[in-house]
This record gives sequence, C-alpha cells and structure tokens, in this order.
Amino acid sequence: MRVLIISDIHGNRTALEAVLEDAGSVEAVWCLGDLVGYGPDPNECIEIVRQLPNLVCLVGNHDAAALGQLDMGAFNREAQVSMQYMQRTLSRESLQFLAGLPETELIEPVTLAHGSPRNPIWEYLLDVYTVAANFRSFHTQLCFVGHTHIQILYEQDENGAVTWRMPELNDPISLTQRAILNPGSVGQPRDHDPRAAYAIFDTESIVWVPRRVAYDIEAVQDRIQQAGLPARHAVRLAEGW
Ligand code: ZN
Repeated sequence: MRVLIISDIHGNRTALEAVLEDAGSVEAVWCLGDLVGYGPDPNECIEIVRQLPNLVCLVGNHDAAALGQLDMGAFNREAQVSMQYMQRTLSRESLQFLAGLPETELIEPVTLAHGSPRNPIWEYLLDVYTVAANFRSFHTQLCFVGHTHIQILYEQDENGAVTWRMPELNDPISLTQRAILNPGSVGQPRDHDPRAAYAIFDTESIVWVPRRVAYDIEAVQDRIQQAGLPARHAVRLAEGW
C-alpha cells in the first residue's frame, strides 16, 4: 500500500494542495497532527484532510489548544494571537473533527505519534539522547512523528546506538533497522527549505521516500496578513524557519 505521510499542515491550504497534487495517487493518508495553528486556512485544511482516502489522523498540540484542552500560557505571544484567530474562525464541524482525533495509532509495523511515542502531544525529538530514550517507548519496528517540522531520520542499530541523518530528497530508503522518521512539515517547514515537506511510505516494501514541493508562498503570506495574524508567521514561510 502506498501511503502519503503528512504532518504540521498548520492551516496552510496552498501548501497542502501542492503536496496532494505532487504525491499523486495514494491508497491511504496518515496525518501526524497539527492541522491548525499559525496559518490562515484552518477550516479549509480540515475539510480537505477529512476527505482523504483511508485517513488516519492524529491530534497535535495546536489542535489540542484549539479545542481549549491546553493552557494558553504554554504558548508564546504569537502563538496565542494565532490561537485567538482559530477560536474565532473554526467551525463547529472543524472542532468536532479535531475532538475525535486520537493521540497515537499503531499500524504494524508503525507507531504514529505527533511529538514522540513517550509523550505524544508535547515532546520534541531534537537530539539523539531524547530519541534513544524514545526507542524504548514503542514496540514496532518504526515510529513516524512530526512536531519539530524537520525532515529527518533516526536509526537504531542492534547495539542500541542511535544515528541521525537528513535524507536525500526523492531517494528511496529501505528501512531494515528500527527507525523514527519525520516527514517534515507541510505548512511551515523549519529546516531552512521553504518547500512543503512530506513522505511516501510503502507498507509492503517498507520503503520511505522523503519529498518536497514548491508552492505559492506569497499567496499564503497575503492571507496571513489579511487575517491579522502575526507578520512573523508570514516571513518565516519564505525562510523555511
Ligand atoms: Zn506543529
């Protein structure tokens, strides 16, 4: 089965549409959370995602915040402004959809989580020490995460040693060891490449292909401005940071 892996769409409809077109035909879509937050199109993104084929979709920290489940004090000032925008904007249907999302899913041979298998909503996997600890928190061969907005691959060898690499784009990676993989962010990349990031995973061959696609960033920046969202959210899209 050819599966589209997406995460951290963050209300960026233009990036999402570019990814769906670039990915071509897929049999399933696994979305690792944060459909909303930062971007101008939260309802549109939810509308698109919920109609994707064989969808498995997790809740992220921004989705949980939009539901009022988290203390807003845990977010910085700009995130709070974007949260207030979402609370004004999100339709009842969108909120209902977000409220039904699980924190983790297990689809052999993969565990799915937004942040980490140990602390699905909040933990950032940014260093090998944290990653090594997290290899003890799931029991499948693979774990797919989002949350850091960085397209990256961590592998664990038979001795438990963890290495990381930023994989070559479009280069199919045959996964034979235990690994934690991040497809990067659709709507707000933070690895200095502003193109929308995603991955294609083949469940039979256990092959992961990291991909990127350019989209009309200026159109999104205009909508961010029109929505009264922080200018920083627009600037960073072009920087990929
Ligand atoms: Zn995010």
